[in-house]
Amino acid sequence: MVLVYSDDPKLIAELLNKASDLAKQLQKKVIAVTIGSEQHAKDYIEHGADVVIIAQTTQQQFKAEEYTSILLSILKEHSNEIVLIGSNKNGKELASRLAARLDAGCVIDATNILLKDKKVTTERVVYSGNAIAVEQFFGSPQIITIPPRVFDPLPKNPNHKGEIIKKTVDVEQSASKIIKVQEMKSEGVNVEDAQIIVSCGRGFKKKEDIRLVSELADVLKGRTVGCSRPIAADLKWLSEDHWIGLSGHKVKPKLYVACGISGQIQHIAGMRDSGVIVAINKDPEALIFKSADYGIVGDLYEVLPKLTSAIKEKIG
Ligand SMILES: Cc1cc2nc3c(=O)[nH]c(=O)nc-3n(C[C@H](O)[C@H](O)[C@H](O)COP(=O)(O)OP(=O)(O)OC[C@H]3O[C@@H](n4cnc5c(N)ncnc54)[C@H](O)[C@@H]3O)c2cc1C
Repeated sequence: MVLVYSDDPKLIAELLNKASDLAKQLQKKVIAVTIGSEQHAKDYIEHGADVVIIAQTTQQQFKAEEYTSILLSILKEHSNEIVLIGSNKNGKELASRLAARLDAGCVIDATNILLKDKKVTTERVVYSGNAIAVEQFFGSPQIITIPPRVFDPLPKNPNHKGEIIKKTVDVEQSASKIIKVQEMKSEGVNVEDAQIIVSCGRGFKKKEDIRLVSELADVLKGRTVGCSRPIAADLKWLSEDHWIGLSGHKVKPKLYVACGISGQIQHIAGMRDSGVIVAINKDPEALIFKSADYGIVGDLYEVLPKLTSAIKEKIG
């Protein structure tokens, strides 16, 4: 079996694509696990799961120790060779705890999974995006976490049949307990799901000038502004919600416009999967042009207003 779990339903749908592909090659079934909620069970089947296990538990919210014990009890009943877990903060902690409990191998943040000579082989980006590590498992199960947007979900197939199993799970209570959950303050910006992003970097002289980027984002109907690390972390002109890169958000929009961003590898690591990349920089040697599909060499203070009004004229 290939087992899929995440606390994010969107991520489960994405993982089911790869799980179905591996299961087909290995002639196995795909199990999706959901803890507590039955809400998306039917969707998971339409996205490719052969079995959906709904773990019914008294555990109200995510807690790594308890969720590890829930997945362990499911894994005990189903011989799963491959376990795919959504690579968000919770998923990474869960995967590593699960691997430790099972004495199994674990690859975090895989960007591809292949079968080479029937051996599960993973690829992941290392050294800030300068190299790809290719790794193989020799034991079982093989635990792999996959970040959001690495795979697109398969289109829903209402004819795909599957079984929904409700399973009551006794949770091993751990010694720790959650006392308070405090949500991070956010401006409500979601760069990770944006389809069009216009980003600003140190090429901007002052905070007020960022309106040039917002205006372009507005006419492109994207309305999403991103930025490089110095703008969020050092100058604090924008909140961390906008920060793109290795230590910021990873994005995959259809269009990414980088304005006054030099293109250091740590920034590229967060936006290299964008569909079309446009760069505006006054330095013709700027690294960003190596990653761009279209480059405009020029002063952003001259280029941006002209570009915005030309697009406005064209698309209204
Ligand atoms: C561990 C680590 C993690 C990091 N994580 C991230 C990360 O997640 N995201 C990130 O972005 N960075 C990250 N960095 C920082 C990264 O290395 C760069 O320092 C940063 O991306 C540079 O930001 P920038 O391109 O805005 O600024 P700069 O490198 O200063 O580039 C500014 C650019 O603007 C151009 N410019 C200046 N004036 C104009 C003008 N008038 N018109 C047009 N162009 C102009 C310049 O030619 C230059 O290319 C990280 C670094 C480390 C060490």
